[in-house]
Amino acid sequence: MKIVRTRAEVRAEVAATRGRGGLVGLVPTMGAFHEGHLSLIRQARAESDLVVVSLFVNPTQFGPNEDLAAYPRDEERDARLAEEAGADVLFAPPVDEVYPAGFATTVHVAGLTDVMCGASRGAQHFDGVATVVTKLFQIVAPDAAYFGQKDAQQVLVVRRLVRDLDIPVRIVACPIVREPDGLAMSSRNVYLDPAARQQATALNRALTAGADAVARGETRSEDVLGAARAVLTASGIDPEYLDLRSGDDLRTLDRVEESALLAVAARVGSARLIDNRILEVR
Ligand code: AMP
Repeated sequence: MKIVRTRAEVRAEVAATRGRGGLVGLVPTMGAFHEGHLSLIRQARAESDLVVVSLFVNPTQFGPNEDLAAYPRDEERDARLAEEAGADVLFAPPVDEVYPAGFATTVHVAGLTDVMCGASRGAQHFDGVATVVTKLFQIVAPDAAYFGQKDAQQVLVVRRLVRDLDIPVRIVACPIVREPDGLAMSSRNVYLDPAARQQATALNRALTAGADAVARGETRSEDVLGAARAVLTASGIDPEYLDLRSGDDLRTLDRVEESALLAVAARVGSARLIDNRILEVR
């Protein structure tokens, strides 16, 4: 695996593969790899001739009071894990390679970004995500890009921007990878002390309670949300949001219909965690 720092270097790697008619897969990440990231890299490996993993803690998607400075960073470990999972190129640029002096353009996806994490983290979050993902697509020009369903809203935002801006890339959403007790893997789980780590299991249990309510035939949103909220309350968690929305466009739903997204964000100890579940009516 090659580690490259500049746009020119990554483009040269991609050009060589493309010249041979090969397929290029891109896995955008902020590093601090866990099995969730590695599952994306493995999926990309299975479908691509060249797997590019980007490692960039994108400053523009962090709010002023968020954890940019504290965000876990260990490039050496990430490089080793990425290589083992099948990456060919690790693109780990410095900040000024991505945002040179005078950088002045923002990609804003309206509507989808007003709710959930867009409401609780502020508009800058998805503007930062949309802008850096657009840039990565321009730099790498991948055939496919791999994202985790853990960030369900991010997947919808990325799908919308590639459609709206006619970017010819296939967006692949990969399933949420969980710890044995159900906690969704996250780079931010390292912030959890043992008590908070235990409390954090309530997020997935709350989603399960919502899914169980639907399985019992309780499809009214207030019933599903009530079942989920009861689990959070019992664990002493007051979520930033607990929402039931269309999995296609995030409009609120009165009832669980096809592809409903039950999503939660909460501060647990010193970590902000998110999780979600697609609910299906059978
Ligand atoms: P991040 O480094 O947190 O920006 O995540 C990079 C990519 O990995 C994003 O597409 C995430 O959705 C994905 N990801 C993070 N955690 C998980 C997980 N537990 N399961 C699946 N994908 C994940």
